[in-house]
Amino acid sequence: MLEKVRILKIGGSVITYKDKYSELNTMSIKNIILEIKRWLEEANDTKLVFISGAGSFGHPLAHKYMLNKESIDNKDSLCFLQTTTNMQRMGNIIANVFQKKGIPLFPIQPSSIFITDKGRIVDCYLKSIIIAIKNNQIPFLWGDSVFDMSHRYRILSGDQISTYLYEKLNASDILFGTNVDGIYTENPFKNKYAKIIPEVNDENYKEVLEYLSHSSYVDVTQGMRGKLEEIYAIKKRPVRCVIYNAGLKNNTYKALRGEKIGTTIFLRGETHG
Ligand code: ADP
Repeated sequence: MLEKVRILKIGGSVITYKDKYSELNTMSIKNIILEIKRWLEEANDTKLVFISGAGSFGHPLAHKYMLNKESIDNKDSLCFLQTTTNMQRMGNIIANVFQKKGIPLFPIQPSSIFITDKGRIVDCYLKSIIIAIKNNQIPFLWGDSVFDMSHRYRILSGDQISTYLYEKLNASDILFGTNVDGIYTENPFKNKYAKIIPEVNDENYKEVLEYLSHSSYVDVTQGMRGKLEEIYAIKKRPVRCVIYNAGLKNNTYKALRGEKIGTTIFLRGETHG
């Protein structure tokens, strides 16, 4: 089995401009790469899986073509392929930037290895991910549109991929880099008096869930509430995750080092589900 795998998931709101169609936030990506590089040089024998959201490469198309609808009506093959190909293009551009900085990032197209049923992962070809990790490469996956057993195509979020791989790879934690400092008592973009919640645990989980509204952008994956529900649905306990602001310099480095930052989620209660 693999030792010490960590999962770093960076939101589409950080790596792309969510309000500009298919545009990468290159500055933000470069900062994150330098911070990962610095951490990799210091960390001993720790393996990483990198996951990103689909951002403006995926959500506008998925929304336009209604790929996340539960019915199969009007779901068109070419529209599906256009969406997944655009995501693959994003994956390859990002992998090239990492490789130019000397980091062996291996892009793996999620639509080629994941199958969902009613939007939930039911099958995945994991071997390429495991072998890449053993070869000291960093597998890179992203939110994508995928084949679905009941609904023909569905959106598979980077968050669901992260929690699935957390269990399958027996990872030690997941770091969610997003565009806010963590989970707040209200959406901080809507209420400037919203307060950050430093820790979510078994005791306050339900109360925190109440605080969460949906993300403000064209996003078919439920924003911060979807993220927390996805984390809670992990069956393995304990669960350790951090939600932090990856748009601020040095934060990804701090999160990778395990410094206290953002909102920590620590669930150890009864195995869920
Ligand atoms: P990402 O794309 O980075 O994965 P999401 O868009 O899915 O992130 O979720 C983050 C968004 O959730 C924030 O940008 C914010 O608009 C929204 N949000 C809603 N309610 C809250 C809350 N109580 N605390 C933090 N963020 C919230």
